[in-house]
Amino acid sequence: MRYAVLSDIHGNLEALNSVMEHLISERIDRYFCLGDVVGYGANPSECLNRLIEVEALIVAGNHDYACLGKLQISWFNDAARAAVTWTRNQLGFTELDSLRRLPLTATEGAFTLVHGSLKYPQRFEYLHDAAQAIDSIRVCRTQICLVGHTHVPAIFSSDNNKVDYLEGPKIRVDSERRYVINSGSVGQPRDGDPRASYAIYDDEEPTVEIKRVEYDVKKAQEKILRAGLPARLAYRLSEGR
Ligand code: ZN
Repeated sequence: MRYAVLSDIHGNLEALNSVMEHLISERIDRYFCLGDVVGYGANPSECLNRLIEVEALIVAGNHDYACLGKLQISWFNDAARAAVTWTRNQLGFTELDSLRRLPLTATEGAFTLVHGSLKYPQRFEYLHDAAQAIDSIRVCRTQICLVGHTHVPAIFSSDNNKVDYLEGPKIRVDSERRYVINSGSVGQPRDGDPRASYAIYDDEEPTVEIKRVEYDVKKAQEKILRAGLPARLAYRLSEGR
């Protein structure tokens, strides 16, 4: 099976469409989404519906939760808070209902999906380094834990003694080891590379590869500005920050 792993789309339809277009030639059998489908970008409904169309297995992110009123937005910065309020008003009854059904974690085959980290999924903690990866690996019941939230792609691997950070973009998966894989962000990358980030997992080779794809950043920015969303949310897209 070949899996496409998408995370942190954040209502950026231009980025999502570009990724989906590239995936056509990748013979994908199953789509996973690690949350934050909405928030920041100008097309939250369209992004959610695109994922539903391909029957993606989706877990909830903090922005999805915030739009439902399930998370205190006093924790968010000004731009994120404005985006939550704007997004909530864009979503119809059906979309809100779809968001409401998203679980915090999901398990399928060798994979466990979570937005932040696995120890306390409801806290949406950031998993940035090997030390934080250990906590998720300890509680993960499958070989692979898929995470998002940081908007920075990363692969960690553990032999049950220590955790290593692996240099990608493509790595061979060792059946004796366990992994935490962050596919990066489709709609708002923050590692200095503005291209949309996602991952492809092939369980026959078996390999995982972080992929980057260019998209129409300018169009996404124009839509954000036209919607009256904070200008910072538009500008950061071309910086990948
Ligand atoms: Zn996010």
